[in-house]
Amino acid sequence: DSLPQREQALIRRRQQALGQAYRLFYQQPLHVVRAEGVYLYDPDGQPYLDVYNNVASVGHCHPQVVDAIASQAAVLNTHTRYLNDGIVDYAERLLSTLAMPGYQAMFTCTGSEANDLALRLAGSFTGGQGVIVTAHAYHGVTSSIAACSPAFGDGVPLGPNVRTVPPPDAYRGNAQDVAARFTRDVQAAIADLQRHGIRPAALLVDTLFTSDGVFAEPAGFLQGAVDAIHAAGGLFIADEVQAGFARSGSHFWGFQRHGVVPDIITMGKPMGNGHPLAGLMARADIIDCFGAQVRYFNTFGGNPVSVAAGMAVLDVIEREGLQQNARDTGAYLKAGFEALAGKHALIGDVRGTGFFIGVEMVSDRDSKTPASAQTTRIVNALRERRILISATGPAGNILKVRPQLPFGRDHADLLLGALDAVLAGL
Ligand code: PMP
Repeated sequence: DSLPQREQALIRRRQQALGQAYRLFYQQPLHVVRAEGVYLYDPDGQPYLDVYNNVASVGHCHPQVVDAIASQAAVLNTHTRYLNDGIVDYAERLLSTLAMPGYQAMFTCTGSEANDLALRLAGSFTGGQGVIVTAHAYHGVTSSIAACSPAFGDGVPLGPNVRTVPPPDAYRGNAQDVAARFTRDVQAAIADLQRHGIRPAALLVDTLFTSDGVFAEPAGFLQGAVDAIHAAGGLFIADEVQAGFARSGSHFWGFQRHGVVPDIITMGKPMGNGHPLAGLMARADIIDCFGAQVRYFNTFGGNPVSVAAGMAVLDVIEREGLQQNARDTGAYLKAGFEALAGKHALIGDVRGTGFFIGVEMVSDRDSKTPASAQTTRIVNALRERRILISATGPAGNILKVRPQLPFGRDHADLLLGALDAVLAGL
């Protein structure tokens, strides 16, 4: 093993202290000690370009977010049962990103909790229990949400109230037909729930279908499915944990690209730039129905320090023009991958929007056979070149390109050059 003694010792202590359920990235696990902007640093001060972390979305350790957290922590941090301006200011600011009247916000600490709460809201409003998700979706770790997350595989059974539909895949399916097919699949899932006496409560989707393999085009393909769940008395829940907060470049929220109106919008990861802040926005009548039955309290959710972090994130996105950067640099990066596809037959498809790009590796372009082993080699070879990236999709053969929003053209060139060299050397 070529890992230094220091890392080998830390891995042993980690396994001893944390146990089997935790996993490390990479054949050569990476030891990091600090971060700044779009770089992580190892104990020797070597920089690693971070093309993976959409949580530190406005850049690692962004000074304005750090300052907001530190300043508020020095003044007041408590729960939400006292009057305080911060949570109200932040909720109003967040709701203003929707430009849809009649919505309200609720706060949690994780995306899983946000989705869990969304299902409770949907259950109380519709009186139903049935949930429809895509075939390789990931929505989180609570018992009820893990049961709606087929990405866990056979080790975590889906709930009897859960139905899966194939993702809206324009690469393996007919690209002209994505919307019609997705609508038909959702209608069939609704019919199957009803046949089993289960009333549909919600269609729950990640609006960029990231764990299914990144499916963004053609924009607009969600409308028929949303109409179908509404016609069946269920709600449409847009999981914006991945797509939200300007990542798609063209819009602040992923669902906006599709021109649909969700009943509930859940969010997390980038919301606090790494501080654990998550939550949802929902139609006020849905929250009213739940609130009439339930007293909701979340000890840490929406505390003054968390909402100060969230407010700073919104400020930075706006002031630094990060949505525009995601759109423009994202388009530049995507064009760069497309150029590489002209050189390297392993790249079967390049897709996505803004700063969420999927680069699908196939061993044969006609059969579209997933090149899973090669993708693992690429991810590890890029790590050797100090570029951090990961893979997604059921076969793990799709490079997941998801940098921090300030990622520039120079960073894109570093990534593209390294990938070119790695592909040439395979
Ligand atoms: N929804 C989606 C689409 C996610 O990607 C994730 C996390 N990977 C979650 C929900 C759960 O968020 P958390 O890990 O904060 O609970």
